Amino acid sequence: DTTHGAILYLENITVSFDGFKALNNLNLDISVGELRCIIGPNGAGKTTMMDVITGKTRPTAGTAFFGQSIDLTRLTEYDIAHAGIGRKFQRPTVFEQHTVFENLELAMKMDKRVKSTLFSRLTTEQVDKIDACLRLIRLNGNERRLAGLLSHGQKQWLEIGMLLMQEPQLLLLDEPVAGMSDAETARTAELLNELRGKHSIMVVEHDMGFVAEIAQQGKVTVLHEGSVLAAGKMSEVQADERVIEVYLGR
Ligand code: ADP
Repeated sequence: DTTHGAILYLENITVSFDGFKALNNLNLDISVGELRCIIGPNGAGKTTMMDVITGKTRPTAGTAFFGQSIDLTRLTEYDIAHAGIGRKFQRPTVFEQHTVFENLELAMKMDKRVKSTLFSRLTTEQVDKIDACLRLIRLNGNERRLAGLLSHGQKQWLEIGMLLMQEPQLLLLDEPVAGMSDAETARTAELLNELRGKHSIMVVEHDMGFVAEIAQQGKVTVLHEGSVLAAGKMSEVQADERVIEVYLGR
């Protein structure tokens, strides 16, 4: 067992673009049930790292494993998504012409493992699953609204709900609170704290207040120039001279 029980295991990942190393010997692993925050200045390599994990970019060198045996460097984006890695991009992409409930229903039915078609009647268990998700994403009471009429924050929660309906084994969230109001940001922190331990989640985020809220019990990894500059508790990372220099210096 080379992955030590991690859900995600990256070892010495390098990505070169015409000789420029967007990732440079990056090492990172995530345990099952962990909520990991990734921070780092612009250009640190955060997006490139998520592109490697989801098969959008092939590493020039290094090893990337999902679970015990899935070599991410050999799978297509499509196969990686179906293997159980869900990615949420910054902009919400919900079906605006459909209701909140229908969005969750469609997401569930798009999951290959669900043996129902788009038009088959929902079972009681499936309705219960959608109801539980509605409460989690703070949209119960809004299930009959068109998704296009939701606030920006509500659309982001709906998209997280849609990903959860597909029961991903690893969830990647790219700046989930970008553009949210303070109240929405606080509710998103609550939501993610409720998911802690139940799902393995990687959050890339610029909002340090938000990171502090969700990293209280977890670990923060700081990327800089394509590798890990520091990792640990938020309090340790914040006090690290090298981290302060990267954020404030130059
Ligand atoms: P972050 O998401 O942390 O802001 P990125 O992963 O987007 O960082 O970028 C890391 C570095 O790699 C940046 O300097 C960026 O300009 C460079 N880069 C990213 N993608 C490409 C590409 N397709 N071709 C050339 N350079 C790239």
